[in-house]
Amino acid sequence: MEETIVSAQLAVDETLEIRKNRVTSGSGTNPKEKRLCIVTGTHGDELEGQYVCWQLNRILHQYPERLHGTVDIYPALNPLGINTMTRGIPMFDLDMNRIFPGSESGAAAEYIAAGIIRDIKGADVCIDIHASNIYLRELPQVRVSEDTADTLLPLAKLLNVDFVWVHAAATVLESTLAHSLNTLGTPTLVVEMGVGMRITEAYGQQLIVGILNLMHSLGMWDGPVEAVRQPVISRDGKVSFINAGASGVFLPTARHHNRVVPGQQLGVIADPLSGEIREVLHSPAKGTLFTLREYPIVYEGSLIARILGEAES
Ligand SMILES: [Zn+2]
Repeated sequence: MEETIVSAQLAVDETLEIRKNRVTSGSGTNPKEKRLCIVTGTHGDELEGQYVCWQLNRILHQYPERLHGTVDIYPALNPLGINTMTRGIPMFDLDMNRIFPGSESGAAAEYIAAGIIRDIKGADVCIDIHASNIYLRELPQVRVSEDTADTLLPLAKLLNVDFVWVHAAATVLESTLAHSLNTLGTPTLVVEMGVGMRITEAYGQQLIVGILNLMHSLGMWDGPVEAVRQPVISRDGKVSFINAGASGVFLPTARHHNRVVPGQQLGVIADPLSGEIREVLHSPAKGTLFTLREYPIVYEGSLIARILGEAES
């Protein structure tokens, strides 16, 4: 059932509406029934979650008898951003993920944020799907803060992602949707995958396997589930950053997702004008190349890659 969860009047004869699709086996209001929320589109230039919403909807509608509980799917928390290829909320010049929990009596964007929180609050689990930007490609991963790790790690391990990045609590932004919901007692997992402005169907499929697996373990899904990957769990200290030392055109030699060893060449920064190589980039560590530069033009200091080093699991 499609519904508008919150709306705000725009300046001239337009309404900003946040829509969700509720797929449920019951009334959707029985407190004993489990409820899962899938949200995406907070950042209008991150589209990987669109595929996940579409496919998950299709699966749930194809096998209604396998669903026990309620799945609420919110494909566009920032529809104006998606419609205008803009990361933030266009006319307010605001990052939507910096205004939560919002305010019922605030300006339009804050009012919308409060409405989103009101609607999701109380769910058993919420999954907030993000993509990378257009510059970097990311392996499917869940990011959690240290102070929520005890609650969220067991859930994150069900999601069929390649790794879980546990951030120091100090680096977690308090005005995000996930932080607000976690503070309110609704376990919320942030998934980050793929690249901005693009859809990587293989990653979407990978996450859907994980979502069905999570639903199975919550008792919400009795259809078949595939075996899921055991993610590597990593703390901040295990991640190495490689930045450009020169400006130019980055040409990768190592491949995203591959294992690399210290000294291995990752790519070069080329100078198209002179035909020279300005810099050869090497791996400082042994591990998995989980982030790799996608957009070729780089400046001194641009992030080129991140490597997930030896880790506990
Ligand atoms: Zn995002």
